[in-house]
Amino acid sequence: MIVGILKEIKSEENRVSMTPSGVEVMIANGHTLLVEKSAGVGSGFPDEMYVEVGAHIVATPAEVFERSDMVMHVKEPQPSEYAMVKKDQIVFTYMHFAADESLTREFLKTNAVAIAYETIEDKNGALPLLTPMSEVAGRMSVQEAAKYLERVHGGRGILLGGVTGVPPATVVVIGGGIVGTNAAQMACGLGAKVYLLDMNLDRLRYLSEVMPKNCFPMMSSPATVRELAMEADVVVGAVLIPGAKAPKLITREMLSSMKPGAVIVDVAIDQGGCFETSKPTTHGDPIYEVDGIIHYCVANMPGAVPITSTIALTNATLPYAVEIANKGWKKACKENKGIKLGLNMADGKITYKGVADAFGLDY
Ligand code: NAD
Repeated sequence: MIVGILKEIKSEENRVSMTPSGVEVMIANGHTLLVEKSAGVGSGFPDEMYVEVGAHIVATPAEVFERSDMVMHVKEPQPSEYAMVKKDQIVFTYMHFAADESLTREFLKTNAVAIAYETIEDKNGALPLLTPMSEVAGRMSVQEAAKYLERVHGGRGILLGGVTGVPPATVVVIGGGIVGTNAAQMACGLGAKVYLLDMNLDRLRYLSEVMPKNCFPMMSSPATVRELAMEADVVVGAVLIPGAKAPKLITREMLSSMKPGAVIVDVAIDQGGCFETSKPTTHGDPIYEVDGIIHYCVANMPGAVPITSTIALTNATLPYAVEIANKGWKKACKENKGIKLGLNMADGKITYKGVADAFGLDY
């Protein structure tokens, strides 16, 4: 199969869908790899590294689409690309159709085969191509919080871990899934006192067993959130209710009971955010202040660390890319239920119920 690796064109996106070492594995499986010129530069992979492992560098996205049986991206196709997508071409990327009606309707017209990273499932029903980005965002949330706690950024002026004879900061993480656990691990590692809240008792039991001694897993309730918010120097929002908007767990009213200069990082902002006062921000202008509380609400956090994110993404996507390219999408979907769940569109029809339901379209 001829597989094309496109350069990302969405703003602030420096990731690329495959590293040179991933490309090497694809070539070893008998495929021809076309890489758009400078596709990997933002992630620290110049064209020469792709050429060294046997890829062909192609000058324009139009040529990549024209010559490839399957194209890979990180973000969803942008309007300037719709007309380049070919009938029956496999497009393998994060699609997030259910969040974008115009993309869904336009992509349907291409008659291409859309396999979406975000709906592929593993044997346990987990979402293996979302996990690495949640790990990145969770870990990054504490790094960002530490930075904006500094007085020069308007923060409280407190060090997360404290020092000898001085108590550490208190970090409250709401949501003990992938993002929350990674955030809590980082905050614990820096020596903070960490409260990790979740509503799932089995999850709390597990967290109680595996987390370090300075992490206190607790059942999440409105009362607990209210009380801990008053004590917090940092609050990380990391909840997810699948298929629904994030619940607003910290209201505007509660901000006035918090310590001035505290930092809230709303990682769940891509699902609407879990603080009433959250609104999406960008890496160029990541924070704003409401009632003395610093808000960090960047919706594509992994984009800030493209080298780490690109390698983590390739680690997760590569086995699926190899399987789809080796077998073709029909056989891959037949033999791997997880890939079948990734199939969102084929033959001009929606093949994923959640997408069809989102806009009342046929399925
Ligand atoms: P996850 O499913 O692994 O974890 C979510 C957890 O939230 C679950 O354990 C669930 O029990 C818990 N939860 C639900 N309601 C709760 C409540 N009221 N109180 C406490 N806990 C509650 O999801 P995840 O992968 O950790 O992702 C979390 C959020 O981060 C999602 O919205 C995801 O889209 C987002 N995310 C954002 C970025 C970014 O760049 N901003 C990157 C990756 C993920």
